[in-house]
Amino acid sequence: MRGFKFLIVFFLLILFSCNIEENQVSFDHIDMCTFDLRESHIDPTTKPNATIIDWPRWKNGQTIKIKFLDGDSNAREKVKKYAAEWTKYANLSFVYVSATEYADIRIGFQLGQPGAWSELGMESTYGTPDHQSMRLGPLTSYSEASVRRTVLHEFGHALGLVHETLNPSASIQWNLPKVYKYYSDLQGWSKEEVDEFVINKSKSTNYSEYDPLSIMHYYINPALTTDGKGVNEMTDLSIIDASSINKWYPFPIRSVIESGERIDYIPWTHPIKSSNNKFILQFISGILSVKELDTDNIMWQEGNSLYSNFASCYLQSDGNLVIKGRPSGINAAEKLTWISNTGEYPGAQLYLQDDGNLELIYNGVVKWSSKIGKTE
Ligand SMILES: [Zn+2]
Repeated sequence: MRGFKFLIVFFLLILFSCNIEENQVSFDHIDMCTFDLRESHIDPTTKPNATIIDWPRWKNGQTIKIKFLDGDSNAREKVKKYAAEWTKYANLSFVYVSATEYADIRIGFQLGQPGAWSELGMESTYGTPDHQSMRLGPLTSYSEASVRRTVLHEFGHALGLVHETLNPSASIQWNLPKVYKYYSDLQGWSKEEVDEFVINKSKSTNYSEYDPLSIMHYYINPALTTDGKGVNEMTDLSIIDASSINKWYPFPIRSVIESGERIDYIPWTHPIKSSNNKFILQFISGILSVKELDTDNIMWQEGNSLYSNFASCYLQSDGNLVIKGRPSGINAAEKLTWISNTGEYPGAQLYLQDDGNLELIYNGVVKWSSKIGKTE
């Protein structure tokens, strides 16, 4: 059944896929990824016990093996450089192996059906050992911005993301007669195909809100909408791209702040959370707070938002938790805006507990907590 489905996909690709090389002038401004042509013919219900957004995921923390089926070292290095951007936000590792080894993702540049496309998520692992799972096109003939966009976009598919234009909450005001004519002229698509690949919304989405800045969004010519609003091509991950992939592939939860650690330096990709994933410690605009994730309720906070310039927050090595900052204005002096007054506990650590309580622990004993302050 699987092989039969691939044959259908293959046949449809031959019929309908675009050709970047032969239509360089038109497609240079469109980068029409032909991923939809593959994806739209894969029936997600064939995977039991999983939802549509669950089944293509890689295992969180997985090392994904990647190999190239063609291409020179210049093109390969560009892929490695730009694809690595995703792993800043996703708890995944990319390892590039030689052509003779097993690889989860198998990339061709000039090989395979024209255009740029990728299998969706773990679909990449299916097929024979040398079955191509991604095509990037002849990158060396693209502008650097186009290379970056193409690599980031196709790796987005390879990590499980679909086109953002399909987001059910997207509010694109299509001028349908123009859209049908445009894609008929450009791609030779029928009305039904334009509906399927461009117009119709997906039944589910990776994102909770529509994100026109997503790297997974198509370019939309403003002449194709009734309100004259288009969408530019993106060359970088949007904030929602980064936070969404981080939610899909989160880094391990960390609940402890070590003695001497700067809390304002902790990146949002590796947040301090309670081990039950219900509470998060955050330092924003001079305020240190514990927030309940489900409700967004602030359970506790200290600091002063009027001193948010160059604001910092430390667990000092003497045991004091301190918040400092400056008011706005040139040459404004730094001020201590809050301190826990626990300097008699050098080497103490902070724990964010499962009930949302932030506790300073010294030699195994709680000496201060966000709920009751100093304990003695
Ligand atoms: Zn695409």
